[in-house]
Amino acid sequence: MVIEHESLEQIARNLLHQRGVTENDIAELVMFLQKPYFENIDLETCLLHVNKVLTKREVHNAILTGIQLDLLAEENKMMEPLQEIVQKDEGLYGIDEILAFSIVNLYGSIGFTNYGYIDKVKPGILKILNSHEGPHVHTFLDDIVGAIAAAAASRLAHDNPTYSDITH
Ligand code: MG
Repeated sequence: MVIEHESLEQIARNLLHQRGVTENDIAELVMFLQKPYFENIDLETCLLHVNKVLTKREVHNAILTGIQLDLLAEENKMMEPLQEIVQKDEGLYGIDEILAFSIVNLYGSIGFTNYGYIDKVKPGILKILNSHEGPHVHTFLDDIVGAIAAAAASRLAHDNPTYSDITH
């Protein structure tokens, strides 16, 4: 079955919503990343860049794969010891981050800086996804959301050369 690009995007967006993440949540992460560089940045601009990142095939693939793996862990359907590793979100696992890199990669080296930073600070929706409370597993989703925000922030930065002057 060949899925049309547009419907793949819609499926990916719907999956994010079902897992409790909105485009606005991600735009707020972009705001957090860009506020130190652009005083007048608004949520609307951030949202525009998030929406652009969400048109990318690589991003759809990462969302579909990551959320599928989170769901399998949630439903106890993974083989051991992977089940326990993903369910407990073990720090040394690292494959969740590798998957997210396929998104971060899209916009070059600033993306990695942004991703590393947001992954450390975990503001907004990332804090909620990382709470490890309740039945949900977000081992992959938190990195994907952070990566989309980092990619959108980088995209925004590429539009504004003064940002590059500061960071390089
Ligand atoms: Mg993770």
